[in-house]
Amino acid sequence: MKSLDELVAEGVFRQDVNIGALTTYRVGGSAKYFVEITTHELANEVIPTIQKSGVPLLVFGNGSNLLVADGPHEVVAVHLSGELAELTIDKEGDAYLVRVGAGMDLPIVARRLASEGIAGFEWGVGIPGTFGGAVAMNAGGHGSDMAAAVSSAGVWRDGQYSQWDAQKLAFGYRHSALRPADVVTDVSLRLPAGSAEESKAKLSDIVRWRREHQPGGHNAGSVFRNPETGSAGELIERVGLKGERSGGASVSLKHANFIQVEEGTTALDVSTLIGRIHAQVLEMTGVDLVIENRFFGFGAAH
Ligand SMILES: Cc1cc2nc3c(=O)[nH]c(=O)nc-3n(C[C@H](O)[C@H](O)[C@H](O)COP(=O)(O)OP(=O)(O)OC[C@H]3O[C@@H](n4cnc5c(N)ncnc54)[C@H](O)[C@@H]3O)c2cc1C
Repeated sequence: MKSLDELVAEGVFRQDVNIGALTTYRVGGSAKYFVEITTHELANEVIPTIQKSGVPLLVFGNGSNLLVADGPHEVVAVHLSGELAELTIDKEGDAYLVRVGAGMDLPIVARRLASEGIAGFEWGVGIPGTFGGAVAMNAGGHGSDMAAAVSSAGVWRDGQYSQWDAQKLAFGYRHSALRPADVVTDVSLRLPAGSAEESKAKLSDIVRWRREHQPGGHNAGSVFRNPETGSAGELIERVGLKGERSGGASVSLKHANFIQVEEGTTALDVSTLIGRIHAQVLEMTGVDLVIENRFFGFGAAH
């Protein structure tokens, strides 16, 4: 196996890449090294090398749940595409086995499965992330989540690849057993046969609902998990924080659990606003909201 230095010398990595700009918040700093993994061969060479190098690894998909801190980061950022963003579908009795590269977008797969008459993944049309991020987060919505569909995932940990079944993935609410330096490269779903017409109608309803209830622009979806007692957005609204600002970051007027980011905003603006929301909701309602957005590069406090 080559060393990280050898791969750097061979030009496998781009250097000083602004990864903050690749997230949906569009804020944050750069990674010292960045690699776009487009083939299985490159994955097999690069991922174990990084994981054994001692240099932190950040794998990201569409950055649709990710807040990267400002400033340069001593990190190898990994992004998956090409052969790691492909889809195959096999019939298994009455059901389908769908194998998805972790770099693939959920809405694309949701539309493809619906048109093939495969049921149960319509909800994915509303989630602007990749399969890798969705497994890590156990993303979900509209009454379902990844846990309901995933039968296994291919995971690199500490330089070793293995298939993890659903039990090992240990999905919980917006949670899985994956650690920050683990890399999911492929995901297998088991889904039932359905009706293409019904699935397409569900997709349209979900897309319409999203347009009516969620803001556009630069954001990373729900900032906080919903507490057991109700909705994080309602709590934030109740304590009077709709429209609250920190620099160019503001609490959305359309959905108070979303933070909207204007051009010129810093990651510190966003994290300051998140901290203020958390403190005010705790003080005024006693509810200790848990952050759903993933923070990178902010230090131990997050
Ligand atoms: C408008 C909007 C609406 C949203 N609505 C929802 C919703 O309804 N439900 C919901 O659950 N989420 C929602 N989200 C959040 C987000 O889309 C999901 O969490 C999504 O699964 C993140 O995927 P991603 O590829 O963008 O991950 P990223 O944001 O890039 O990363 C998120 C986490 O996953 C890890 N990760 C990414 N790729 C991999 C990989 N290949 N292997 C291992 N770990 C990986 C990252 O290291 C990070 O910790 C929304 C976001 C937006 C912007």
